[in-house]
Amino acid sequence: GLSSSPSDIDPSQLTITLATALKQLPDPETLVFGEVMTDHMLYMDFAPERGWSSPQIKPYGPLSLDPACSCFQYCPSVFEGMKAYLGPDGTPRLFRPQLNMERMARSAERVALPPFDADTLLILIRRLVAIEARWIPRARGCSLYIRPTLIGTRPSLGVSASTQAALYVILSPTGPYIRDLNGKGLSLLAMSDQIRAWPGGTGGFKLGLNYAAGFPAQRVAAALGYQQMLWILGETVAEAGAMNVFAVFERPDGELDVVTPPLDGTILPGVTRASVLALLSYQPPTAALPQLSAHARIRTAERALTMSELFAASATGTLREVFCVGTAAVVIPVTRIGWRRPPPGAKNGSEPEVVDIVLPAAGEQGSLAQALWQRLVDI
Ligand code: PMP
Repeated sequence: GLSSSPSDIDPSQLTITLATALKQLPDPETLVFGEVMTDHMLYMDFAPERGWSSPQIKPYGPLSLDPACSCFQYCPSVFEGMKAYLGPDGTPRLFRPQLNMERMARSAERVALPPFDADTLLILIRRLVAIEARWIPRARGCSLYIRPTLIGTRPSLGVSASTQAALYVILSPTGPYIRDLNGKGLSLLAMSDQIRAWPGGTGGFKLGLNYAAGFPAQRVAAALGYQQMLWILGETVAEAGAMNVFAVFERPDGELDVVTPPLDGTILPGVTRASVLALLSYQPPTAALPQLSAHARIRTAERALTMSELFAASATGTLREVFCVGTAAVVIPVTRIGWRRPPPGAKNGSEPEVVDIVLPAAGEQGSLAQALWQRLVDI
Protein backbone atom coordinates (compact mmCIF):
# COMPACT_ATOMS: atom_id res chain seq x y z
CA GLY A 1 0.00 0.00 0.00
CA LEU A 2 0.95 3.64 -0.25
CA SER A 3 1.01 4.13 3.50
CA SER A 4 2.71 1.30 5.32
CA SER A 5 2.45 1.33 9.10
CA PRO A 6 5.51 0.24 11.05
CA SER A 7 5.33 -3.44 11.94
CA ASP A 8 4.86 -4.80 15.43
CA ILE A 9 7.10 -7.47 16.94
CA ASP A 10 6.88 -10.66 14.85
CA PRO A 11 7.78 -13.75 16.90
CA SER A 12 7.90 -15.91 13.74
CA GLN A 13 10.99 -13.91 12.69
CA LEU A 14 12.90 -14.86 15.86
CA THR A 15 16.52 -15.88 15.26
CA ILE A 16 18.39 -17.81 17.93
CA THR A 17 22.18 -17.75 18.17
CA LEU A 18 23.44 -19.83 21.07
CA ALA A 19 26.61 -19.03 23.01
CA THR A 20 29.51 -21.30 22.14
CA ALA A 21 30.77 -21.50 25.72
CA LEU A 22 28.32 -21.51 28.62
CA LYS A 23 29.07 -19.82 31.95
CA GLN A 24 29.48 -21.79 35.16
CA LEU A 25 26.37 -21.63 37.36
CA PRO A 26 26.86 -19.64 40.58
CA ASP A 27 26.45 -21.17 44.04
CA PRO A 28 22.81 -20.38 44.97
CA GLU A 29 23.86 -19.91 48.63
CA THR A 30 25.97 -16.85 47.84
CA LEU A 31 23.90 -15.16 45.12
CA VAL A 32 23.85 -11.35 45.37
CA PHE A 33 20.82 -9.76 43.67
CA GLY A 34 21.46 -8.67 40.10
CA GLU A 35 25.20 -9.42 39.92
CA VAL A 36 25.24 -12.51 37.68
CA MET A 37 23.64 -12.55 34.23
CA THR A 38 22.75 -15.66 32.23
CA ASP A 39 24.29 -16.71 28.89
CA HIS A 40 21.73 -15.15 26.53
CA MET A 41 19.59 -12.06 26.02
CA LEU A 42 16.61 -11.12 23.89
CA TYR A 43 17.11 -8.06 21.69
CA MET A 44 15.15 -6.07 19.13
CA ASP A 45 15.04 -2.45 18.04
CA PHE A 46 12.59 0.02 16.59
CA ALA A 47 13.00 2.44 13.70
CA PRO A 48 10.11 4.64 12.58
CA GLU A 49 10.15 3.55 8.92
CA ARG A 50 10.20 -0.21 9.52
CA GLY A 51 8.86 -0.71 13.05
CA TRP A 52 10.27 -3.50 15.21
CA SER A 53 13.22 -5.49 13.88
CA SER A 54 13.29 -9.28 13.88
CA PRO A 55 13.76 -10.38 17.49
CA GLN A 56 17.01 -12.08 18.34
CA ILE A 57 18.04 -14.36 21.16
CA LYS A 58 21.81 -14.09 21.24
CA PRO A 59 24.77 -14.41 23.61
CA TYR A 60 24.67 -11.88 26.49
CA GLY A 61 26.96 -8.97 25.69
CA PRO A 62 27.44 -5.19 25.49
CA LEU A 63 25.23 -2.93 23.41
CA SER A 64 26.79 -0.50 20.96
CA LEU A 65 25.04 2.88 21.19
CA ASP A 66 25.67 6.38 19.89
CA PRO A 67 26.71 8.64 22.80
CA ALA A 68 24.01 11.14 21.80
CA CYS A 69 21.25 8.56 22.30
CA SER A 70 18.27 10.08 24.08
CA CYS A 71 18.34 7.45 26.88
CA PHE A 72 21.66 8.94 28.08
CA GLN A 73 20.40 12.52 27.84
CA TYR A 74 16.68 12.88 28.55
CA CYS A 75 16.07 9.45 30.08
CA PRO A 76 13.34 7.74 28.10
CA SER A 77 14.17 4.51 29.90
CA VAL A 78 11.66 1.90 31.03
CA PHE A 79 12.16 -1.38 32.83
CA GLU A 80 10.30 -4.25 34.44
CA GLY A 81 11.09 -6.82 37.10
CA MET A 82 9.46 -10.24 37.35
CA LYS A 83 10.44 -13.77 38.26
CA ALA A 84 10.47 -17.27 36.82
CA TYR A 85 10.35 -20.20 39.25
CA LEU A 86 10.87 -23.91 38.60
CA GLY A 87 7.68 -25.82 39.28
CA PRO A 88 7.76 -29.17 41.10
CA ASP A 89 7.59 -30.78 37.63
CA GLY A 90 10.77 -28.96 36.53
CA THR A 91 8.88 -26.59 34.20
CA PRO A 92 9.66 -22.86 34.41
CA ARG A 93 6.70 -20.75 35.48
CA LEU A 94 6.41 -16.98 35.43
CA PHE A 95 4.48 -15.16 38.17
CA ARG A 96 1.63 -13.15 36.59
CA PRO A 97 3.83 -11.76 33.78
CA GLN A 98 0.92 -10.28 31.82
CA LEU A 99 0.61 -7.66 34.55
CA ASN A 100 4.26 -6.68 34.12
CA MET A 101 3.91 -6.53 30.33
CA GLU A 102 0.85 -4.28 30.60
CA ARG A 103 2.67 -2.02 33.07
CA MET A 104 5.67 -1.87 30.72
CA ALA A 105 3.44 -0.81 27.83
CA ARG A 106 1.96 1.96 30.03
CA SER A 107 5.45 3.08 31.11
CA ALA A 108 6.60 3.24 27.47
CA GLU A 109 3.66 5.46 26.63
CA ARG A 110 4.42 7.77 29.60
CA VAL A 111 7.84 8.65 28.14
CA ALA A 112 6.66 8.59 24.51
CA LEU A 113 8.58 5.46 23.51
CA PRO A 114 7.23 3.34 20.65
CA PRO A 115 4.40 0.94 21.48
CA PHE A 116 4.82 -2.84 21.30
CA ASP A 117 2.48 -5.77 21.64
CA ALA A 118 2.73 -6.97 25.23
CA ASP A 119 1.48 -10.52 24.53
CA THR A 120 4.04 -10.97 21.75
CA LEU A 121 6.87 -9.77 23.93
CA LEU A 122 5.79 -12.29 26.57
CA ILE A 123 5.94 -15.15 24.04
CA LEU A 124 9.56 -14.20 23.31
CA ILE A 125 10.44 -13.86 27.00
CA ARG A 126 9.08 -17.39 27.57
CA ARG A 127 11.38 -18.66 24.79
CA LEU A 128 14.37 -16.98 26.41
CA VAL A 129 13.52 -18.37 29.86
CA ALA A 130 13.09 -21.88 28.38
CA ILE A 131 16.56 -21.63 26.83
CA GLU A 132 17.99 -20.45 30.16
CA ALA A 133 16.06 -22.92 32.33
CA ARG A 134 19.27 -24.38 33.81
CA TRP A 135 19.80 -20.98 35.48
CA ILE A 136 16.61 -21.14 37.59
CA PRO A 137 17.74 -22.05 41.12
CA ARG A 138 15.76 -24.95 42.58
CA ALA A 139 15.85 -24.00 46.25
CA ARG A 140 12.66 -22.60 47.83
CA GLY A 141 12.48 -18.82 47.58
CA CYS A 142 15.03 -18.75 44.74
CA SER A 143 14.14 -17.72 41.21
CA LEU A 144 15.32 -16.28 37.93
CA TYR A 145 14.80 -12.51 37.87
CA ILE A 146 13.70 -11.17 34.48
CA ARG A 147 14.61 -7.59 33.54
CA PRO A 148 12.92 -6.34 30.34
CA THR A 149 14.35 -2.93 29.35
CA LEU A 150 13.23 -0.38 26.77
CA ILE A 151 15.39 2.64 25.97
CA GLY A 152 15.18 5.57 23.56
CA THR A 153 18.07 5.44 21.06
CA ARG A 154 17.44 8.47 18.88
CA PRO A 155 21.00 9.77 18.26
CA SER A 156 20.24 13.47 18.55
CA LEU A 157 20.43 16.16 21.22
CA GLY A 158 17.11 17.63 20.13
CA VAL A 159 14.82 17.74 23.14
CA SER A 160 11.94 15.64 21.87
CA ALA A 161 10.50 12.15 21.97
CA SER A 162 12.80 9.35 20.85
CA THR A 163 11.62 7.97 17.53
CA GLN A 164 14.08 5.06 17.83
CA ALA A 165 14.30 2.49 20.60
CA ALA A 166 15.95 -0.72 21.72
CA LEU A 167 14.14 -3.39 23.70
CA TYR A 168 16.10 -6.11 25.44
CA VAL A 169 15.57 -8.67 28.17
CA ILE A 170 18.27 -9.94 30.50
CA LEU A 171 18.04 -12.57 33.24
CA SER A 172 19.72 -12.93 36.62
CA PRO A 173 19.42 -15.82 39.12
CA THR A 174 18.42 -14.64 42.62
CA GLY A 175 18.25 -16.06 46.11
CA PRO A 176 15.69 -15.10 48.76
CA TYR A 177 15.79 -11.45 49.84
CA ILE A 178 16.26 -12.53 53.44
CA ARG A 179 17.20 -16.17 53.96
CA ASP A 180 15.50 -16.65 57.31
CA LEU A 181 12.51 -14.40 57.80
CA ASN A 182 11.77 -15.36 61.39
CA GLY A 183 12.31 -12.45 63.73
CA LYS A 184 13.92 -10.35 61.04
CA GLY A 185 12.58 -7.44 59.12
CA LEU A 186 13.26 -4.11 57.53
CA SER A 187 13.92 -0.76 59.14
CA LEU A 188 12.51 2.22 57.22
CA LEU A 189 13.19 5.95 57.41
CA ALA A 190 10.57 8.52 56.42
CA MET A 191 11.46 12.15 55.76
CA SER A 192 9.58 14.80 53.86
CA ASP A 193 12.44 16.91 52.49
CA GLN A 194 13.26 14.54 49.61
CA ILE A 195 10.28 13.34 47.61
CA ARG A 196 10.13 10.41 45.18
CA ALA A 197 6.93 11.27 43.33
CA TRP A 198 4.13 13.81 43.26
CA PRO A 199 0.64 14.15 41.77
CA GLY A 200 0.81 14.33 37.98
CA GLY A 201 4.41 13.08 37.99
CA THR A 202 5.80 9.70 37.02
CA GLY A 203 5.69 7.68 40.26
CA GLY A 204 2.98 5.38 38.89
CA PHE A 205 5.25 4.13 36.09
CA LYS A 206 8.38 2.00 36.09
CA LEU A 207 10.86 4.50 34.67
CA GLY A 208 14.59 4.69 35.27
CA LEU A 209 14.21 8.41 36.01
CA ASN A 210 12.24 7.65 39.19
CA TYR A 211 15.13 5.90 40.86
CA ALA A 212 18.42 7.86 40.62
CA ALA A 213 16.98 10.87 42.45
CA GLY A 214 16.13 8.60 45.39
CA PHE A 215 19.70 7.42 45.93
CA PRO A 216 20.86 10.39 48.08
CA ALA A 217 17.90 9.89 50.45
CA GLN A 218 18.79 6.21 50.59
CA ARG A 219 22.27 7.28 51.77
CA VAL A 220 20.75 9.45 54.50
CA ALA A 221 18.67 6.47 55.64
CA ALA A 222 21.75 4.22 55.69
CA ALA A 223 23.81 6.81 57.60
CA LEU A 224 21.07 6.95 60.26
CA GLY A 225 20.98 3.15 60.50
CA TYR A 226 17.86 2.39 58.40
CA GLN A 227 17.77 -0.09 55.51
CA GLN A 228 15.30 1.60 53.15
CA MET A 229 13.38 4.81 52.63
CA LEU A 230 9.71 5.02 53.50
CA TRP A 231 8.61 7.52 50.85
CA ILE A 232 6.12 10.08 52.08
CA LEU A 233 4.49 13.11 50.50
CA GLY A 234 3.94 15.64 53.26
CA GLU A 235 2.78 13.23 55.93
CA THR A 236 1.13 10.71 53.66
CA VAL A 237 2.77 7.32 53.19
CA ALA A 238 3.52 6.36 49.57
CA GLU A 239 5.78 3.31 49.33
CA ALA A 240 9.07 1.91 50.66
CA GLY A 241 12.30 1.51 48.71
CA ALA A 242 11.10 -0.44 45.68
CA MET A 243 8.10 -1.97 47.43
CA ASN A 244 4.49 -1.17 48.27
CA VAL A 245 3.47 -0.83 51.92
CA PHE A 246 0.68 -2.36 54.02
CA ALA A 247 -0.29 -1.57 57.62
CA VAL A 248 -2.43 -3.85 59.79
CA PHE A 249 -4.59 -2.31 62.53
CA GLU A 250 -6.58 -4.22 65.10
CA ARG A 251 -10.12 -3.06 65.86
CA PRO A 252 -11.66 -3.40 69.31
CA ASP A 253 -13.72 -6.40 68.09
CA GLY A 254 -10.53 -8.16 66.90
CA GLU A 255 -11.15 -7.60 63.21
CA LEU A 256 -8.05 -6.61 61.24
CA ASP A 257 -8.00 -3.53 59.03
CA VAL A 258 -5.38 -4.02 56.33
CA VAL A 259 -4.59 -0.69 54.71
CA THR A 260 -2.45 0.18 51.69
CA PRO A 261 -2.15 3.57 49.97
CA PRO A 262 -4.34 4.01 46.87
CA LEU A 263 -3.03 4.07 43.30
CA ASP A 264 -3.18 7.86 43.02
CA GLY A 265 -0.33 8.16 40.52
CA THR A 266 2.40 8.67 43.12
CA ILE A 267 3.07 4.98 43.78
CA LEU A 268 3.90 2.07 41.52
CA PRO A 269 0.94 -0.27 40.93
CA GLY A 270 2.79 -3.35 42.16
CA VAL A 271 1.98 -6.83 40.93
CA THR A 272 2.64 -8.16 44.43
CA ARG A 273 0.39 -5.45 45.91
CA ALA A 274 -2.46 -6.54 43.61
CA SER A 275 -1.82 -10.20 44.51
CA VAL A 276 -1.81 -9.51 48.25
CA LEU A 277 -5.06 -7.53 48.00
CA ALA A 278 -6.62 -10.43 46.07
CA LEU A 279 -5.52 -13.02 48.66
CA LEU A 280 -6.75 -10.86 51.55
CA SER A 281 -10.18 -10.39 50.06
CA TYR A 282 -11.09 -14.11 50.04
CA GLN A 283 -13.87 -15.01 52.49
CA PRO A 284 -13.21 -16.66 54.83
CA PRO A 285 -9.57 -15.48 54.92
CA THR A 286 -8.37 -19.01 55.68
CA ALA A 287 -9.56 -20.05 52.19
CA ALA A 288 -6.57 -18.18 50.78
CA LEU A 289 -4.30 -18.12 53.83
CA PRO A 290 -4.64 -21.46 55.62
CA GLN A 291 -2.08 -20.47 58.25
CA LEU A 292 -4.35 -17.84 59.75
CA SER A 293 -6.47 -18.68 62.74
CA ALA A 294 -9.99 -19.77 61.81
CA HIS A 295 -11.37 -16.71 63.61
CA ALA A 296 -9.41 -14.20 61.55
CA ARG A 297 -11.57 -11.49 60.07
CA ILE A 298 -9.92 -9.16 57.60
CA ARG A 299 -11.07 -5.97 55.99
CA THR A 300 -8.86 -4.42 53.29
CA ALA A 301 -8.84 -0.76 52.32
CA GLU A 302 -6.95 1.23 49.71
CA ARG A 303 -6.85 4.60 51.40
CA ALA A 304 -4.47 7.33 52.49
CA LEU A 305 -2.25 6.32 55.40
CA THR A 306 -0.45 9.02 57.39
CA MET A 307 2.61 8.99 59.61
CA SER A 308 0.56 10.46 62.48
CA GLU A 309 -1.93 7.61 62.16
CA LEU A 310 0.88 5.02 62.32
CA PHE A 311 2.46 6.70 65.35
CA ALA A 312 -0.89 7.08 67.15
CA ALA A 313 -1.82 3.43 66.52
CA SER A 314 1.60 2.31 67.66
CA ALA A 315 1.18 4.30 70.89
CA THR A 316 -2.24 2.74 71.64
CA GLY A 317 -1.08 -0.76 70.67
CA THR A 318 -3.48 -1.18 67.72
CA LEU A 319 -0.77 -1.20 65.03
CA ARG A 320 -0.24 -4.93 64.61
CA GLU A 321 2.05 -5.10 61.57
CA VAL A 322 3.60 -3.10 58.80
CA PHE A 323 4.97 -5.01 55.83
CA CYS A 324 6.37 -4.29 52.38
CA VAL A 325 5.58 -6.24 49.22
CA GLY A 326 7.35 -6.46 45.88
CA THR A 327 8.83 -8.87 43.39
CA ALA A 328 12.28 -8.94 45.04
CA ALA A 329 11.28 -9.67 48.66
CA VAL A 330 7.73 -10.97 47.97
CA VAL A 331 6.56 -9.96 51.49
CA ILE A 332 8.83 -8.61 54.21
CA PRO A 333 7.89 -7.41 57.69
CA VAL A 334 8.94 -3.96 58.91
CA THR A 335 10.34 -3.98 62.44
CA ARG A 336 11.16 -0.27 62.82
CA ILE A 337 10.03 3.01 61.24
CA GLY A 338 11.89 6.24 61.84
CA TRP A 339 10.38 9.64 61.07
CA ARG A 340 12.84 12.48 60.56
CA ARG A 341 11.09 15.79 61.08
CA PRO A 342 11.50 19.12 62.85
CA PRO A 343 10.71 18.76 66.56
CA PRO A 344 7.06 19.76 67.21
CA GLY A 345 6.85 23.51 67.84
CA ALA A 346 10.41 24.05 66.63
CA LYS A 347 11.44 27.21 64.79
CA ASN A 348 12.22 27.11 61.09
CA GLY A 349 15.71 25.82 60.40
CA SER A 350 16.09 23.82 63.61
CA GLU A 351 17.75 20.42 63.35
CA PRO A 352 15.33 17.60 62.56
CA GLU A 353 14.92 14.82 65.10
CA VAL A 354 14.18 11.17 64.39
CA VAL A 355 11.36 9.44 66.25
CA ASP A 356 10.79 5.68 66.00
CA ILE A 357 7.99 3.12 65.92
CA VAL A 358 9.16 -0.37 66.86
CA LEU A 359 7.25 -3.47 65.72
CA PRO A 360 9.25 -6.39 67.10
CA ALA A 361 6.68 -9.10 66.34
CA ALA A 362 5.92 -8.00 62.78
CA GLY A 363 7.16 -11.15 61.04
CA GLU A 364 6.45 -13.86 63.59
CA GLN A 365 4.57 -17.10 62.94
CA GLY A 366 0.89 -16.32 62.65
CA SER A 367 1.50 -12.81 61.31
CA LEU A 368 -0.18 -11.77 58.10
CA ALA A 369 3.24 -11.03 56.58
CA GLN A 370 4.40 -14.58 57.25
CA ALA A 371 1.16 -16.14 55.94
CA LEU A 372 1.22 -14.04 52.77
CA TRP A 373 4.87 -14.80 52.08
CA GLN A 374 4.26 -18.55 52.47
CA ARG A 375 1.20 -18.50 50.25
CA LEU A 376 2.77 -16.45 47.45
CA VAL A 377 5.91 -18.58 47.40
CA ASP A 378 3.72 -21.74 47.39
CA ILE A 379 1.83 -20.38 44.37
N1 PMP B 1 7.33 0.28 44.09
C1 PMP B 1 8.44 0.51 43.37
C2 PMP B 1 8.96 1.90 43.29
C3 PMP B 1 9.09 -0.55 42.71
O1 PMP B 1 10.20 -0.33 42.00
C4 PMP B 1 8.56 -1.85 42.83
C5 PMP B 1 9.24 -3.02 42.18
N2 PMP B 1 8.78 -3.20 40.87
C6 PMP B 1 7.38 -2.04 43.58
C7 PMP B 1 6.79 -0.94 44.21
C8 PMP B 1 6.73 -3.38 43.72
O2 PMP B 1 6.14 -3.78 42.49
P1 PMP B 1 6.05 -5.29 42.08
O3 PMP B 1 5.24 -5.98 43.12
O4 PMP B 1 5.36 -5.28 40.75
O5 PMP B 1 7.43 -5.82 42.02
